[in-house]
Amino acid sequence: MKITIHKGTNEIGGSCIELSTNNSTILLDYGTPLQEDSTQIKIEKPIDAILVSHPHQDHFGEIANIDTTIPIYCGELAKELMNATKIFTGNAPLKNNFYTFKAWERFNIGDFTITPYLVDHSATDAYAFLVEADNQKVLYSGDFRANGRKSKLFDNIIKDKKLKNVDVLLMEGTMIQRSNHDFPDEQSVENKIYETIKSDDQISFMIGSSQNIDSIVSAYRACKKAGKIFVIDMYTAWILEKLKIVSSSIPNMSWDDVKVLRSFGKIYYDKISENPSHFGGFKSKIYDDGNHIQLDEIKLSPNKFFIKMSPSFIEKSIQKLEVDNANIIYSQWLGYLKEEFNNQKSIEILKRLEEKYNWVYAHTSGHADLEALQMFASSINPKKLIPIHTEHKEEFENYFDNVAVLEDNEVYEIGQSLSVHQVNELNKIFKNDLES
Ligand SMILES: [Zn+2]
Repeated sequence: MKITIHKGTNEIGGSCIELSTNNSTILLDYGTPLQEDSTQIKIEKPIDAILVSHPHQDHFGEIANIDTTIPIYCGELAKELMNATKIFTGNAPLKNNFYTFKAWERFNIGDFTITPYLVDHSATDAYAFLVEADNQKVLYSGDFRANGRKSKLFDNIIKDKKLKNVDVLLMEGTMIQRSNHDFPDEQSVENKIYETIKSDDQISFMIGSSQNIDSIVSAYRACKKAGKIFVIDMYTAWILEKLKIVSSSIPNMSWDDVKVLRSFGKIYYDKISENPSHFGGFKSKIYDDGNHIQLDEIKLSPNKFFIKMSPSFIEKSIQKLEVDNANIIYSQWLGYLKEEFNNQKSIEILKRLEEKYNWVYAHTSGHADLEALQMFASSINPKKLIPIHTEHKEEFENYFDNVAVLEDNEVYEIGQSLSVHQVNELNKIFKNDLES
């Protein structure tokens, strides 16, 4: 088997790995880069399929721009969440040729046998893939963590005998130089939110991803404990409706203490109306079944409410509600406050909210910290560990055994002792020796 990381050896996001045998070629993820100055490769050669590890844009975004006959393999919920992202960001629903798999159920594509392992990550329906071909095994970790509400999945993977001693482990390293100490898990996030909102004096807002279900659950649980009504925008309401595919215990708009905000709903309402076949009876469920609420009603006793919505609507809501102060729970990556990862207008809104109101950071990372990465790698004990989804691949050798560092687009053949890049580097050194 040959491995080519087209993107991801030097950056977080835009992941794309090609695996090939003599007869078959697949891609693991085909994401849109997060960094403004990075572009994804175009697929020129024929490929048998693309496997999407999870519904984050930096892992699937580019499937919208390919030949729609190429089969896309993903989880059933992941497919719905990818479509939600596209539609609510103003794009058409995906027209790809989707095949959905089930966790832990093997399937074949050409020479490859694939087993998807459900993992704990800030995206729901996220998988690691065990790929077998040519009597070799590759495990791609995808994005994962041990600190979410499904950390049991991490424990299961590191104990799984089938994954021991794989030939190659392609492992993400987002957090290798970052710390998660302030919020080691979702319980600590929930506690912080509860401590912030429990006093009965002011309204609370939350900024965060509508698809980070663990953090939505943390916020809901804190609200319930504090006796607040949990109010969500229509996009979040749609995501929570789709979550019913996998769980009946995740809050949704039919619950008594959950309401959908109707104010500022036009931006969502228009997108729902443009895709009637996609959304089915969702609109009538919001309006006809009385699951909605307006700001006028919230204005009567703002302190009873906790609203999950976008930062620009938070600013407008505060004006309409005419309140002096508010709790702003910031529950997402701090990188979105920086220019490299967000647009100027959004940053300005966030900074204004931070300055004017009671701004509280409460967020745990979607990615494994160094300790969890080390536990993962040492339990799997791969013959080679190749870094991906990291800005610090050169650090891997300091923390893990059997590391093989690749460059983007370098072809690595399993079983070879040196990568092409390493051979080239050695050649350069010997050449210098001869010439000096
Ligand atoms: Zn991710």
